Amino acid sequence: MGVVSIASSSEVTSSAGSTEVRPILADAVEVARAALNDLGEVGIGAYLGVTAEDECAATHRFAADLPGYHGWQWAVVVAADPDSDAVTVSESALLPGPDAVIAPGWVPWEERVRPGDLAPGDLLAPQTDDPRLVPGYVATGDPEIDDVAYEVGFGRRQVMSREGRLAAAQRWHDGEFGPESEMAKAAPSICALCGFYLPLAGSLHAGFGVCGNEFAADGRVVDAEYGCGAHSDTELPTGAGSPAFEAYDDAAIEVVEQPQTSTNPNQQDLQSTN
Ligand code: SF4
Repeated sequence: MGVVSIASSSEVTSSAGSTEVRPILADAVEVARAALNDLGEVGIGAYLGVTAEDECAATHRFAADLPGYHGWQWAVVVAADPDSDAVTVSESALLPGPDAVIAPGWVPWEERVRPGDLAPGDLLAPQTDDPRLVPGYVATGDPEIDDVAYEVGFGRRQVMSREGRLAAAQRWHDGEFGPESEMAKAAPSICALCGFYLPLAGSLHAGFGVCGNEFAADGRVVDAEYGCGAHSDTELPTGAGSPAFEAYDDAAIEVVEQPQTSTNPNQQDLQSTN
């Protein structure tokens, strides 16, 4: 589809490579406007231009001066057979222009929910066939067996799939508590060597844990390679005073030789005699 702009009814230009609007179609501005008036449309504003649909049809556009339709346009399609010397009106419609305020595209409910949307009292069921979950196994009823089985995933109707675990691990690794964060880069050591680090159970044991330090990432899953200044091995700088300034050492005295200033002639005689 090519776009043609019209400065006046007799002046027509077309963009490179576009289908040229035949003059009989380009000149049908008033035919298009009259069609809208005949249909009882209101708010027909300034003429905006014409768009070639193909060799036989073109769409004329008018600004729509309608409350609540900022940027919308009236569009009228006119047509003329190659051998015809008359145009006919095919259809009209109110369409959004490039600056129109329109509703955002429809997003299914399950795709609209984002991490962090869950509020107290909300229920968020997993999607059918959620790839993050796979079937677990029914508990046996024997508490001794079930206690162990539950720890490794038995007894739950579904457990996290390998795909789900890998995705979670990647998010945590790349996130705020991963090794690439500014905090981790400036940390004296890593979480895996910290006394506040509580490793996860299961297959994520080697890579992740929960921080138990209320002054750090308390209660958050942290990468084993993450770290922060509240690491249990953090030592305060030795010495007193502010580390921002060098301490003044008043024990270091520079001895400066002073010239003789005595004016007592007797003392001078005594010195020369000696
Ligand atoms: S205190 Fe810092 S280094 Fe220690 S586990 Fe928590 S986040 Fe990691």
